[in-house]
Amino acid sequence: MDKQTDVLMNLSVLYRSTQKYYDRMLFSMKLTYAQLPILIMIYEREGISMHDIAQSGVYDKGTISKTVKHLEQNGFITIMTSEKDKRNKELYTTDYAKQQMSKVYEIRRDWWQHLIQNIDPSTFDEFLASYEIMASNARAYAESQQENLVFFEWKKVSVSAYPDKMATVLSIAGCNFCCPSCTKSDLVYIPENRKAIADTEIRQYLEKRAGIIEAVCIEGAEPLMHPHLKEFLKYVKDLHYMVKINTNGSFPSFLQELIEEKLVDYVSLSLKSGPRSYAKTIGMENFDTSLISRTLEILKESAIDYDVTIHLIRQFHTTSVLKSMMNWISHVKHLILVPFNDYSSAIQKDLCSIQPKKLGSIIELCQPYCNQLEVRE
Ligand code: SF4
Repeated sequence: MDKQTDVLMNLSVLYRSTQKYYDRMLFSMKLTYAQLPILIMIYEREGISMHDIAQSGVYDKGTISKTVKHLEQNGFITIMTSEKDKRNKELYTTDYAKQQMSKVYEIRRDWWQHLIQNIDPSTFDEFLASYEIMASNARAYAESQQENLVFFEWKKVSVSAYPDKMATVLSIAGCNFCCPSCTKSDLVYIPENRKAIADTEIRQYLEKRAGIIEAVCIEGAEPLMHPHLKEFLKYVKDLHYMVKINTNGSFPSFLQELIEEKLVDYVSLSLKSGPRSYAKTIGMENFDTSLISRTLEILKESAIDYDVTIHLIRQFHTTSVLKSMMNWISHVKHLILVPFNDYSSAIQKDLCSIQPKKLGSIIELCQPYCNQLEVRE
């Protein structure tokens, strides 16, 4: 198992074991693990409001109300109207709770001592400080609730990514497919420690190079999965860049929106298979291929440039599959065939390219279904 997954797994083990321990130890007191942090917070800050609890513990209001209600029903706390502001409620522990708290602290201490056994005391303070920072980062994220568009790969200059233009190429992570032939598994199975490229660095570059670099290409994984893409494209368009998006074609409505708002100039649609075998080639059991049909329609009806790209894989693209793909696309502006040759980095390792001798007949088969046919190495 790789290291990034271990972090998540360890957190999960820690959480579940801690929950089990506390629930067992607190059972006779009619307390639960979930109620404990809130009860301790009230005990240590008598008169605290639900709002303050929500802020310090990143709880939502519903969870707090439910927990407070249970604590009150079981005789641990009382809820009083604030003398300063009648709209506010203040929470206080009862005498019963106060009598239980030393037992609660003992239980908490025992578990902590159990967890930290075998940890080298000389590194422990450092660990605790890092742990504190992680919790504070998590809180800050929950408070800001911001989701920005995040890029993980960046080819600053490319002369091949956008037809006849000098472009910069940015890659987003995350995909709704899991194609066995995917060669960007790092953008699909995003490692926890994968560093994003600083937004400011990208923006400074784009602002400085506007007029020199002519186009911005957004690739993935799948760019159209991210609603924040639109804001970013508006920014890019304000700098007068041409925009190209590579997509797997499964977000037709968002694509249409971007085209209508003139935020995209070129789309490259990666077509994986014919309708009947589509799900298999994207690593799924079932898939609604009408999404791809709709994307094809949108591209054909629009005034923007586009291509349909097929990575030819021996195991998937038999003559009958290619025929069904051609019947499906019917007639497109620009078809690009790419014999698949990136065996080592694909998710499924035993995939291979079509036999070179078959390329001629494939070209012959596909030619009638497009204005322009291109074969790329
Ligand atoms: S659609 Fe593209 S990025 Fe997504 S899994 Fe398939 S090949 Fe990879």
